[in-house]
Amino acid sequence: MDAFKKQWFAEQLVRWYRANQRDLPWRRTKDPYHIWVSEIMLQQTRVDTVIPYYQRFLEKFPSIAALAEAPEAELLKAWEGLGYYSRVRNMQIAARTIQEAYGGKMPKTREEISKLRGIGPYTAGAILSIAFGLPEPAVDGNVLRVMSRFFLLYDDIAKASTRVKVEQMLYGIIPEDAAGEFNQGMMDLGATICTPRSPNCTACPIAGHCAANLAGAAEELPVKSKAKKPRPEERAVYIIEGTGKRQGKIMLRRRPSEGLLARMWELPHELLPFEAQEQFGLSERFYMEAEHIFSHIRWKLRVYVCGEDEIEELLGKPLEQLPGGEQDDRSQQAGTAAAAEAGAAAEAAAAYDADPSDGSPADEEASVIWVSRETWREAALPNVFIRILERYYSERGE
Ligand code: SF4
Repeated sequence: MDAFKKQWFAEQLVRWYRANQRDLPWRRTKDPYHIWVSEIMLQQTRVDTVIPYYQRFLEKFPSIAALAEAPEAELLKAWEGLGYYSRVRNMQIAARTIQEAYGGKMPKTREEISKLRGIGPYTAGAILSIAFGLPEPAVDGNVLRVMSRFFLLYDDIAKASTRVKVEQMLYGIIPEDAAGEFNQGMMDLGATICTPRSPNCTACPIAGHCAANLAGAAEELPVKSKAKKPRPEERAVYIIEGTGKRQGKIMLRRRPSEGLLARMWELPHELLPFEAQEQFGLSERFYMEAEHIFSHIRWKLRVYVCGEDEIEELLGKPLEQLPGGEQDDRSQQAGTAAAAEAGAAAEAAAAYDADPSDGSPADEEASVIWVSRETWREAALPNVFIRILERYYSERGE
């Protein structure tokens, strides 16, 4: 790559960023903790959604020490709605490591920072360049797209080797005196101008030397092999209404401590094909359908409402025997028949203890709680169950 083109690229991008940068709360700080929180939240989540979460999270957990010491229930609650909860759990583990091994200060080398739980090559580069001004690349999908187009690279960006190649190229481009601005300029350019479809080349600050633009190939880049489609799973979900002293309450249970959505609260549900749900006569109790898509799995849910005293008859087994866990993340990702079998066995083993006490969402020990219209929002629930319960309570009026 010729030196002139590299230097020109960096200068144009930084100049453009300085004039056009989006005003975002995490851009008004160089605090590595704040940058870290923002970057983790922005994974898989849109900027507009992240802003209020970011502000609330920092109010509640204003320092790495506060995050390290936060009770799990409060942490999950603060993250509720952002999804991918392993992100915040990993942050807490990393915060504890920073407290113990680095005296509460974020380490400043790629080697050390990359050892922290949940901090991958992109996040490491973002923190090092933005907070500490170090010339470290931060390669995400936006950067891969801009680089593929500017340098006319036909490497598959779904491959880790392409990311490594692009990182190596960037080490020769990132300016020493404006590393954070360069990296953020790349992110902004990819998000606003060099977009996946219909890139706005006429407004682009680096169009003059962009190889894809000059070759008329912008729309065919980057090359990306298709990810596997999420595997559909048909499930029956139960809104179990309390009777007797639990009148007016519904049951929530806690998910297993490992795997998908670990330790979050949820409505009880089980893996059961729709056809079997009909055979079991659940249709009479049908309430609504819902869907939740993870990266590797798609829950297709049918929701049923029934009373606490009817549940055994309806399920053909006592509530305590209702399997709850999903195949864990690892077996899901493996996607093999053997892994699926192992996952199914894990599910059968993950029966819940239907503790008869009412409990409270803040009770770290409880595995089952009964909540009311007034208290259900205190429990950290995956989005899909929030949507179901919002409808349930709004339709039942005051
Ligand atoms: S000129 Fe077009 S293809 Fe090239 S970097 Fe700019 S927006 Fe992307």
